[in-house]
Amino acid sequence: MNVRLLPSCCGNPDPGPQFLSSYLVGDEIAIDAGSVGLQADLSIQRRVRHVFLTHAHLDHVASLPLLVENTYEPGPDCVEVLASAGTLAEVRRGLFNGRVWPDFVGLSTSHDRFVAETVLEPLATVDRAGCRITPVPVAHGVDTLAMIVDDGRACVAFAADTGPTDLLWSHLADRPHVRAVFLECSFPESLAGLAARCGHLAPTTFAEQVRRLPAGVRTLVVHRKAAHAETVAAEIATLSLPGVELAVPGRLYEF
Ligand SMILES: [Zn+2]
Ligand SMILES: [Zn+2]
Repeated sequence: MNVRLLPSCCGNPDPGPQFLSSYLVGDEIAIDAGSVGLQADLSIQRRVRHVFLTHAHLDHVASLPLLVENTYEPGPDCVEVLASAGTLAEVRRGLFNGRVWPDFVGLSTSHDRFVAETVLEPLATVDRAGCRITPVPVAHGVDTLAMIVDDGRACVAFAADTGPTDLLWSHLADRPHVRAVFLECSFPESLAGLAARCGHLAPTTFAEQVRRLPAGVRTLVVHRKAAHAETVAAEIATLSLPGVELAVPGRLYEF
């Protein structure tokens, strides 16, 4: 399975900090739409057919209206957005509302569609582009689903934004070929209280989650808040957790 955390910065020769969340799984599946609609190479955007949204926070949906516009062609084929009913409602209320952006959901007809919505039910697996994707509720204060993606050879979990959680780890424990987890650590330890209130992780709670993973699973650290990214990296390094590395935006990961 090929996975890329998409860059979210312009005008920087190296990947830069992560402001937004979007992953590509292969060419056709995106997990979250923070930056996928900002990719300069339009062919990347056009190949995306299925966008799984973990939740409706701006850093995860910001470029969805652009992706829909950039990939629209007259006809029945269009990009599919898959999310919980609550997240789909928030996206339509906040983005595709006829004010911030056209109501591309309402404007779609059976023979000319801009975007198609599919409701994800918690723990109900769907098949797309050769992968089985299982959404698992996590603890983020708003309706949020982690995504477990399994292509039959490798299984990778995208833990979304979350505070300490249980269900995701128990689901991963039952799977035979879990290779990696993309796990957030948003705040440094000095802001652990804020992290707890907002449904995020700080190094101590991050480490507690990592210790629940099966042995040999890689943990890729994502979603370090830009203002604290270096501090979070340094604090995680002092924990000497096996298999933990910082995810690099733009890098191709093969699992
Ligand atoms: Zn969030
Ligand atoms: Zn976020």
